[in-house]
Formats: sequence, C-alpha cells, structure tokens
Amino acid sequence: YLFGKKRATDIAHMVWKQVVRKGDTVIDATCGNGFDTLAMLNLVADDSHDGYVYALDIQRDALDNTSLLLEKALNSKEKQLVKLFNICHSKMENVVPGNASVRLVAFNLGYLPGGDKGIITGSETTSLALEAAKRILMPGGLISIVVYVGHPGGREELEVVESFAAGLCVENWICCKLQMLNRPFAPIPIFVYRR
Ligand code: SAM
Repeated sequence: YLFGKKRATDIAHMVWKQVVRKGDTVIDATCGNGFDTLAMLNLVADDSHDGYVYALDIQRDALDNTSLLLEKALNSKEKQLVKLFNICHSKMENVVPGNASVRLVAFNLGYLPGGDKGIITGSETTSLALEAAKRILMPGGLISIVVYVGHPGGREELEVVESFAAGLCVENWICCKLQMLNRPFAPIPIFVYRR
C-alpha cells in the first residue's frame, strides 16, 4: 500500500509484484548490495518454478556484496537461478540469452550505498541501457527506474530517463513517475510498462 511505504525502492518492489510472475526472467541492471536481486528472485522462483535473475554491476565490490547476501539467503538450487555479471548495463544484451522473454529490467541508479560515491551511474550509459532494455522487454513487461537527484549529475540523469519515457509511443507504452512534491530531493520511481 503506497502510503505505508517509506522508500522509493519499496514502492518499486510493490509495483514489480503486480507485473512479475513465477518462472519469469528479469534483470537487475544495478545489483549493488543485492537487495533488489534477492527481492526479484523471490518473485520469479519457488519450489516449482525456475525463474532467472540476471544481475549486473560495473563494480566488483558490488558483485561480492550481492554474492554474500545471496549466499546467506538462498539455498544452492536458488543460487543457481541468479547470474551475476561484472559489466555495464548498456551491454545487457551480451549476457541475457536472445530467446529470453524479459519481464522486468530494474535500475536503481546512483552510487553503491556504503561504497565509493565516485562510481556512479551516468547519463550516457543509462540512456544506452534504457534503449537496450526497451529492445529486450517482452509485451506485458516493465522497466523500473529509481532516480536520485540529490547528487551531482542526478538531475541530468533524471532528464535522460524522463525524455526516454516521454518519447515512447502511447499505443505500446504506459510511462509514469511518482514524485514526492513536498520532498524535492526524494528518489523518484519511474515506471515504463510495455502493453
Ligand atoms: N540495487 C542495489 C541494491 O539493492 O543494493 C543498489 C544499487 S546502487 C544505488 C547503484 C549501483 O549501480 C552501484 O552498485 C554501481 O556500481 C552500479 N553502477 C553504476 N554504473 C553502472 C553501469 N554503467 N552499469 C551497471 N551498474 C552500474
């Protein structure tokens, strides 16, 4: 329920739940400390469904943190359903199988919490990654983006995300953003749904 959710990522998770089904393939385009990756795995897999999570990050430290979290939280069968890649998300098509129907591509932009604040998502690669996500998303799939505007470059990145979403044709895409009007620096969840 929207007003009980404190964080933008909780709101994103709530929306994912409405879209993602057991057995789906999904992509965590910025796996960071692994919390989103774990939430996604719980949506796509259970005892009778093998859904897959492709989790990407440009930082080795982030992948190590994600591995550690998954190691603690998952059994050995579940762990095999998460594929970790140390690459830029603009290259997602190089690692996700071409025949996969991708239900969700999730971006949690910015820097690694607890990590190097100098390593940050950037407008140029974010733009390329959104285009890649658009190409591989199945009908009935969602691109979910949480944008942070409190750091240098954040506003420019928001503009890139907004102009990507605003330019999609209305027949095939539903695009919306959830902005906290009385919290100007709050993270902004943006959802791009392919009909
Ligand atoms: N989803 C994560 C979680 O649940 O902990 C948090 C993600 S954090 C806000 C943003 C991450 O994006 C950082 O770990 C950073 O290394 C990563 N990143 C920055 N540029 C990237 C790029 N071009 N491709 C993939 N990951 C990138």
